[in-house]
Amino acid sequence: MNILIKNIDILDLSIDDKVIRNSNLVIVGDKIKSIGDYDKEVNYDKIIDGTNRLAMPGLVNAHSHLGMSVLRNYADDYDLNVWLNDYVWPAEAKLTDEDIYWGSLLSMVEMIQTGTTTFCDMYFSMDKVARATDESGLRGVLTRAITDIGGGGDEKFNDMMDLVLEYKNNPHDRIKFYISPHAIYTCSSELLMKCRDASLDLDIPINIHMSETLKEVKDSMASNNMTPIEYINSLGMLDAHIIAAHCTHITDEEIEIVKDKNFYPIYNPTSNLKLASGFTPIKKMLESGMTIGLGTDGSSSNNNQNMFEEIHISSIVNKAVEMNPKCISAEDSLRFATINGAKALRLDDIGELKVGNKADIVLISLDSPHMVPRYNDVSSLAYSAQGSDVETTIVNGEILMENREVKTLDVERIKYEVKKISEKLMTSR
Ligand SMILES: [Zn+2]
Repeated sequence: MNILIKNIDILDLSIDDKVIRNSNLVIVGDKIKSIGDYDKEVNYDKIIDGTNRLAMPGLVNAHSHLGMSVLRNYADDYDLNVWLNDYVWPAEAKLTDEDIYWGSLLSMVEMIQTGTTTFCDMYFSMDKVARATDESGLRGVLTRAITDIGGGGDEKFNDMMDLVLEYKNNPHDRIKFYISPHAIYTCSSELLMKCRDASLDLDIPINIHMSETLKEVKDSMASNNMTPIEYINSLGMLDAHIIAAHCTHITDEEIEIVKDKNFYPIYNPTSNLKLASGFTPIKKMLESGMTIGLGTDGSSSNNNQNMFEEIHISSIVNKAVEMNPKCISAEDSLRFATINGAKALRLDDIGELKVGNKADIVLISLDSPHMVPRYNDVSSLAYSAQGSDVETTIVNGEILMENREVKTLDVERIKYEVKKISEKLMTSR
């Protein structure tokens, strides 16, 4: 399919102006074919008028648990440990593969409607999540979280590797499977080292929760006499590409250890605030040159999948924490949610709108009162825009939403199914 977007302003953080004015963008198949002039002789399958709209790269939600939308507002106002042990894990034990399929689809609807085109999911029943991803049209890095605190590590590792190998050997256009030990407090050192070996042998990244709470750090000191990152370093894991969710309590010494490694912290500001996990030292991490991605975390600790909220909060929280309004700029936050997330997920042909990249594009309406006037589009996107300003969402050259209408998924059916699941969870609570 050929798509021409005419008279469109295009966000380009690599140029001084940050926006290419009144341009044209041509999509052929799954890629951006041209920006600027276009061939007027071609019969385009679709022409979109870009007047009073801004094209930006689709957002990258680099850490979530999509199926957890079935637990949205199920248990709130607890810290991470109480929340997980007393509420989330008992409820998750009751979820079927189908429940996770519908819950994941609900998260995907939210993402399409709020401009996320790529996500990294860590959950279970991942063959169902793969089916949902395929149907949604979104781009997904899928990871089946494994643990062995309750035993069964070998079996879970083998299940995870079956999916990793299936997708490595039969590549899907939009779906990748990575390796995913859940966290150092739920995995033995033996299991972590097995994951390291598989990652290095197959050249496949690892997705893990890292230094999320002070309790994790204290427990690691008590049992290993090392901080979490020192511990995974002692296991040789830092030779691998690591997608490290949270890093809330990363220390100065740990930043020195990881700053030149393929170690990508994923900042989840809303989840950290809501679970009272703490303040991630984003300013120090930025100054060290680390590439920071951004995520929503699951909808039970956020409680939505709207990356525009994360962009906004990631910038303003740190200004106050550091008492320095310059420490994280609007542009920094937009980078977290686009090009940095792409690098963290090792997807090198998304995250920027440039010729040859995958056509993962969102069109933002500039019509809403909160988007007027237009002094600075980078500020508008970071500080004023809402997820509902996303008018059109395109992934891999396919239009997933046009004029706010989701094309690929049956939104009413998905809401109905998730309501049914919530009734089951409430009656067995
Ligand atoms: Zn998480």
